[in-house]
Amino acid sequence: MERKRRKRKTDEERARATEGRSRVLKCPLCGETPGIPSDIDTPFGGEVEGGTCGCGAVYVYDRTGKMLGEAFTEALVMAFEWDYDAAFSAPDGSYEEGVVRFNPRVTQFLLGEGDARDRSPRFYFVRRKKAD
Ligand SMILES: [Zn+2]
Repeated sequence: MERKRRKRKTDEERARATEGRSRVLKCPLCGETPGIPSDIDTPFGGEVEGGTCGCGAVYVYDRTGKMLGEAFTEALVMAFEWDYDAAFSAPDGSYEEGVVRFNPRVTQFLLGEGDARDRSPRFYFVRRKKAD
């Protein structure tokens, strides 16, 4: 019964297989669980769904997976306290970004943007680096 014998996975293999995957939403910038998303009023009369993380990151939840760059822009501007000028003139390296997408089929959160045709809900995280 050779075929029935299952190859044992080493801890290392198992860790690699689950790398960047999680059952719960984790901040891609610090690895902690951020606050749950809620509707956030923008100073411009709009609303975004998003939240904050204890590490100082903010995120915007793109429930439809269709906002693409727009959701990132919202997160970036939110990180700069809704100051568009500051956000768009921010030098490269003055903030960090990360994307987590949710796969409802396997109820897993995956690191990274994934395929552009993929319409999974996505969380766009932005964290400003401390000026020093
Ligand atoms: Zn964080």
